[in-house]
Amino acid sequence: MIKCPSCNHRERNGTLFCSECGAELFNVIPDGVNEVVLEFVETGKRLRLKENREYTIGRTGKKQALIPDVDLSQFGAFQKGVSRLHAILKTYPGNCILIDLDSANGTKVNGERITAYKDIAIKNGDTINLGTFTILVHISNQQVTDKLCPA
Ligand SMILES: [Zn+2]
Repeated sequence: MIKCPSCNHRERNGTLFCSECGAELFNVIPDGVNEVVLEFVETGKRLRLKENREYTIGRTGKKQALIPDVDLSQFGAFQKGVSRLHAILKTYPGNCILIDLDSANGTKVNGERITAYKDIAIKNGDTINLGTFTILVHISNQQVTDKLCPA
């Protein structure tokens, strides 16, 4: 959706003029074009996240009912000391917040250990370590819309 800058009326992506006030909308950035991509450095795999969501990050284990939104089991998370529910990542337009859930092996941001249950702002290019599992965070904020819309 795009929001008219003049009257705040909401229109579909691609709408050229506001149906309420007639304002030009072609330069208005639609919602959802900011994206957060997690790159699992050791594997080169990337995961695209949606904005304005809350993701639990961890791994699955035996007898575990709760499955994290971002399950790192397949990437050797156990061996790298990732807890079952290790951290929470909240995504916002253009930035995100990381919260360590008092994980056994801790969380680092750019090499510095962070305090459990405290909001840590993550910027584009920051490196997160869950135990020794390395995640590179890409946060983009571009005007190109269609190809960036979540799959
Ligand atoms: Zn309008």
